[in-house]
Amino acid sequence: MSDNILKMILAKDPGEREYHQAVKEFLETVQPVLERNPEYRQLGVLERVTEPERTITFRVPWMDDERRVRVNRGFRIEMNCAIGPFKGGLRFHPSVNNSILKFLAFEQVFKNALTTLPMGGAQGGSDFEPKGKSDDEVMRFCQSFMTELSRHIGQDTDIPDGGLGVGAREIGFLFGMYKKQRNEFSGVLTGKGLQWGGSYIRPQAAGYGVGYFAAEVLAARGDTLEGKTCLISGSGNVAQHTAEKIIELGGKVLTFSDSSGYIYDPEGIDQAKLAFVKRLKNIKRGRMREYIDKYSDTTYTESDRSLDHNPLWTHRADCAFPCAMENEINEKDADNLVNNGVKMVCEGADMPSSPEAIKIFMDKPILFAPGKAANAGGVAVSGLEMAQNRMLLNWSAEEVDQRLRTIMKSIHQTCLDVAQDYGEPGNYLVGANIAGFVRVVNAMLDQGLV
Ligand code: NAP
Repeated sequence: MSDNILKMILAKDPGEREYHQAVKEFLETVQPVLERNPEYRQLGVLERVTEPERTITFRVPWMDDERRVRVNRGFRIEMNCAIGPFKGGLRFHPSVNNSILKFLAFEQVFKNALTTLPMGGAQGGSDFEPKGKSDDEVMRFCQSFMTELSRHIGQDTDIPDGGLGVGAREIGFLFGMYKKQRNEFSGVLTGKGLQWGGSYIRPQAAGYGVGYFAAEVLAARGDTLEGKTCLISGSGNVAQHTAEKIIELGGKVLTFSDSSGYIYDPEGIDQAKLAFVKRLKNIKRGRMREYIDKYSDTTYTESDRSLDHNPLWTHRADCAFPCAMENEINEKDADNLVNNGVKMVCEGADMPSSPEAIKIFMDKPILFAPGKAANAGGVAVSGLEMAQNRMLLNWSAEEVDQRLRTIMKSIHQTCLDVAQDYGEPGNYLVGANIAGFVRVVNAMLDQGLV
């Protein structure tokens, strides 16, 4: 049954490589659910979950600082709203296209279901590159983007969030334009500033959640992060806060990267060094190579696209946390990780491990925590931001953090329970996919053919 669905998707949208990858991995793991529920075939369950409910594409014209007209493409993929209004991030990056956003939206549906909060799944964004643009250019772009997007979103229909290339600055500009156009101050976006409807811990949530999830995976085996050496890729929102939580839990973070290269700090990146990285990336908008000017006993390695592997993953360590981009760990990288003693790969980014890499992790086996479960803390706290907006209340940082920790603990336990139930004990990939799938499908079937 799932082979036919995959063939149908390949035929319908042949160029969507990332989307095919996400669906293929998913279908392989949920096969046992289809065997237990043969009626799903007649009910067209797979056809329905793999087809977006709505896809919006639009032109985003804006003017740069030299008064030249630029045009980008904007997208919003509303994948599934069976368990709540559409909810999911925005990504601004030159690589953005329909395939990447469909894969992100598809994963978001099941990730959101795992949180047990009432949120459907969506993703959107643009092929706009914020890197190297002035604040004024970013503002003009965001205003033009929101001029169109505002027709399609709303606090009861679709609530976008930040994501890769969309941080506090961008959310501010987007929210300002939405408010002006609609004459409405509502919880239509999450990731808002604390003074205007944001939640404590939202900026930290995805990364803290990754740290909590990793700690749960180890605790289930009587172990902790204390003293564990950790490789982290990326140096953005998820990477920074994953590092912060690992350091707090006693781990030693050795690396950070950006698209130009990576740093390796054999002494470990402590909270003071992390504060430097946050200033460098979030305020100065600088490059990771500047780290070695400040901390001289470290090395910087420039990215080399001609290599068949990423040297960041060749360092000896206990754990790896890919927190940058999809498919950043290929087969060779996975081999390198395993051969250098890594015992756990916990994904902070969405789909950072290629199918070949996942196969190696499963065969070894080493502990593998898929992003769908491990990085769900970001959207979970966005759900908590929505709840606070509805109540016109602000919970304290301690309360939000406590709720985040409880949600991550419960996602971890759900993955283990479901994997056990389906005869794959300890397999977090199977547990996460099946748990999310069952929740969404049950809701869809309750609501009839819509
Ligand atoms: P971000 O703040 O924009 O940071 C992205 C980081 O990845 C930057 O350091 C960027 O470096 C680096 N990067 C980009 N391309 C790279 C490459 N080819 N090689 C190495 N590094 C590269 O984004 P983010 O929010 O941390 O998101 C990272 C990942 O987490 C994405 O997969 C996103 O979908 C996922 N995620 C995010 C959230 C969230 O709440 N933010 C939640 C769940 C999942 P440059 O500065 O060179 O671009």
